[in-house]
Amino acid sequence: MTTTHAYAATDAQSKLAPFEFQRRELREHDVHIEVLFCGVCHSDLHQARNEWKNTMFPVVPGHEIVGRVTKVGPKVSKYKAGDLVGVGCLVDSCRTCASCQEGLEQYCENGFVGTYNGQDRVTGAVTYGGYSTQLVVDEAFVLRVPENLDPAGVAPLLCAGITTYSPLRTWGAGPGKKVGIVGLGGLGHMGVKLAHAMGAHVVLFTTSPSKIDDAKRLGADEVVISKNQAEMDAHANSFDLIVNTVAAQHDLNPFINLLKRDGTLTLVGAPEHDHPSPQVFNLIMKRRRLAGSLIGGIAETQEMLDFCGKHGITSDIEMIPMQKINEAYERMLKSDVKYRFVIDLDSLRK
Ligand code: NAP
Ligand code: ZN
Ligand code: ZN
Repeated sequence: MTTTHAYAATDAQSKLAPFEFQRRELREHDVHIEVLFCGVCHSDLHQARNEWKNTMFPVVPGHEIVGRVTKVGPKVSKYKAGDLVGVGCLVDSCRTCASCQEGLEQYCENGFVGTYNGQDRVTGAVTYGGYSTQLVVDEAFVLRVPENLDPAGVAPLLCAGITTYSPLRTWGAGPGKKVGIVGLGGLGHMGVKLAHAMGAHVVLFTTSPSKIDDAKRLGADEVVISKNQAEMDAHANSFDLIVNTVAAQHDLNPFINLLKRDGTLTLVGAPEHDHPSPQVFNLIMKRRRLAGSLIGGIAETQEMLDFCGKHGITSDIEMIPMQKINEAYERMLKSDVKYRFVIDLDSLRK
C-alpha cells in the first residue's frame, strides 16, 4: 500500500480539500504510476457537486492523467518503470460482453469502472482519480504517450481529446465535410484542432465573441456567434456533422436547422438538466439525426494519442497547483479558461 496525497470533495456543497488514502498493492497486471499532470474536466465539477446524482463521497476527481511508471506487477508485459503513460476515464470493464470484445469498453454492457466514482471489480472499493500523487491501474487500461509531445498538454487528450475524436471519426469528419463544433471550452478546443487536422471544413459556434481570434488560431475556418440569428441563418442546411460540447441546458433547434439532409448533431456535453426536446418536424423533414457519444474505448484512445503525436497536437493549457482547484472550478463555470486547466501534481508532493 502506498500513502497517496490527494484533493477530495466530501459532499456536494463543500470545496475540494486535502485528503489522504492508500493505493492498493499491485496485482499481477497492475502498473504503479507517479502522477505528473491531471487535466480538469467539466465532468469533475459535475460529479464533485453531485449534479449527475450518482456521486459516492468522498470523491477524488481527475481522469486526464499523465505520469511515469514506477513499478509493475509480475505479469505486466506492455510497460516498464520509466515509461510515460496516460490514463483516461476508464480503469476496467467486464472484458467479455459484445462491446468490450469490440474494443468499446466505454459502452460495457455490465458497466465500465470509472477512474473515479467507480467501483473496483475485485474489492468493490470506490475508485479515486488523478487529483492525487499516485495511481494503480491494470495495464490493459493504460495508454502509451508519444514522447514528442509536451506531457502536460497531453493530459487533456485523455478525456477532452478522445471525447471529440471518437464522434469525429464515427461520423466521418474529413476532407469535403463541413463540421461544426459548439462551445470553445476544453472539449470544444480539442474538437476544433482534431477536425482541422482530419481535413474537414471547421466552423466553431461560440457564445463568447472574445474567443473568435483564438478559434481561428486553433484551426476553425469560420466562427459563428450562436446568439446572432443572421450569422446562424447563413449556415442553414449545410452541415454534415455538428458536435455539441456545451455543459449547460439549451435549445437544440437552432443547431438542428443547420444540418443538411442526413446530417447529424452529436451531443457530448452532459449538463445537469436535460435539453428540451427538439421539434420533431425539424428532424423528419430532412432525415436529420440527433445522436450522443461517450468518450472512447482503449484502442481508439491509443489511436487518438498516436494521431496527436503524428500531427503535433496537444491541448492549450493553463497550469495550476492543486491548491487552486476551487478557483479553477469557478472560472470554468464562467467559461474563463484557455482552454484547459491542468494540475501540476508536484504541488502535492512538496
Ligand atoms: P468547459 O471547458 O466548461 O466548456 C464548455 C463550453 O460550453 C464553454 O466554454 C462555453 O463555450 C460553452 N457554454 C457553457 N455554458 C453555456 C451556456 N449556458 N450556453 C451556451 N454555451 C455554453 O467544459 P468541458 O470540459 O469542455 O465539458 C463540456 C461538457 O462535456 C460537460 O458537460 C462535460 O461533463 C461533458 N463531457 C462529456 C463527455 C462524454 O463522454 N460525452 C466527456 C467529457 C466531458 P463558449 O464560451 O465558446 O460558448
Ligand atoms: Zn472528462
Ligand atoms: Zn463489457
